[in-house]
Amino acid sequence: MASAATDAIKRPALNVCSECFREPRSSAVVHGNAIEDDPANYFDGPLMTCANCTRALYCSRECQLASWPYHKGICRQMKKGVLPVVMLHSNPVGVSGPGKMEDCNMPIHDAPMFEAARDDPRHHSPCMRLLGIDLSVVPIPHTTVGDNQWATYFMIDPVTGFAPPMWEGGAVEDVLICRTDGLPMTVQHVLVLGEFFSHVLDAFGTQPVIPDISKRRLIRELRSNIDNNGRGITF
Ligand SMILES: [Zn+2]
Ligand SMILES: [Zn+2]
Repeated sequence: MASAATDAIKRPALNVCSECFREPRSSAVVHGNAIEDDPANYFDGPLMTCANCTRALYCSRECQLASWPYHKGICRQMKKGVLPVVMLHSNPVGVSGPGKMEDCNMPIHDAPMFEAARDDPRHHSPCMRLLGIDLSVVPIPHTTVGDNQWATYFMIDPVTGFAPPMWEGGAVEDVLICRTDGLPMTVQHVLVLGEFFSHVLDAFGTQPVIPDISKRRLIRELRSNIDNNGRGITF
């Protein structure tokens, strides 16, 4: 059953195995990364796609089997036409760090939040766009207003290190974090991205250069998070 929202569904932006995060050697050469990285980060041959959800990517049958206990929940939801998104709650003013997070489900074919987000440039994460991922952070009207530091992180300008005024501290509502390309966003994803942005933001404070917001860096962050947050997720 096709619709505008499901037609927009794409493959993940990161061309890596969802389990071991290795890249096909061919794509590494295209991006000019083959020299800087350990050869163990690459494999020969194309990525295979999970036949059930057509979203998760694997380098081998072994990785697909190892990933299944972590992937199966999201896989079945997407097969049913339900898209996981995250509700990130605001903290009381003065409280930093992430607020309470909840996995929520949204029907893929009927997602008014996606439509609203698609049309409003203030809700698209500029850093995530550099990674080729169109991610929206949408305030939920009439919810608690306070500090929502991680929502602010997502809206940081990659050149200045500052977020637009509506995202600066003390006045941000609870938000819904979703991808507008129809790929899932779960609490695991947000935890990995929050760590990634924390490290990126450190660079704004310490170096007179624009920090490295690249797919390479996100893949490295994913690899270092495999054991706690990263397992079984796809960007
Ligand atoms: Zn693999
Ligand atoms: Zn799947």
